Amino acid sequence: MQFPKPIPAPTRTIQCYHCGRAAALSVAARSTTCAGCYRGLTLDDLVVSGRHLVAKVQTCGRVVVESKGCLIGTLIHAQGGLDVAGRLVGSVQSAGTVAIRHTAEWEGDVSAPVVVIERGARVSGRFHAGTVLRPEASDAPALAGSG
Ligand SMILES: [Zn+2]
Repeated sequence: MQFPKPIPAPTRTIQCYHCGRAAALSVAARSTTCAGCYRGLTLDDLVVSGRHLVAKVQTCGRVVVESKGCLIGTLIHAQGGLDVAGRLVGSVQSAGTVAIRHTAEWEGDVSAPVVVIERGARVSGRFHAGTVLRPEASDAPALAGSG
């Protein structure tokens, strides 16, 4: 006779953007308190599809700037990574992958382990990245020769 195996709650590993401490949390959690520094943490992903002006963005999730989106901030700290197809202005820190799409307009410094810059992206700033990848655009428009 076999006992059914308990189904583990799906978890994800997050990293505190204040002190860097890692923690495993339920994927359903929206916010938590860091066990290292006892500060509150936002876990939500931020999706920017319009114009978004902020002083500071800090989340353990990801920041996504869609192609029509514009994110302007002083500090953008997305531990889960960034995916930018629109405009981003600010100083970026991430513990994940920063993807700069071919449609992106990027102004600012980046500190991240991996930065992916698609061909065609307009990028200015200083990059402190462990790895910088420069692939061809993954979703290039079918029409060639736009300019
Ligand atoms: Zn902490």
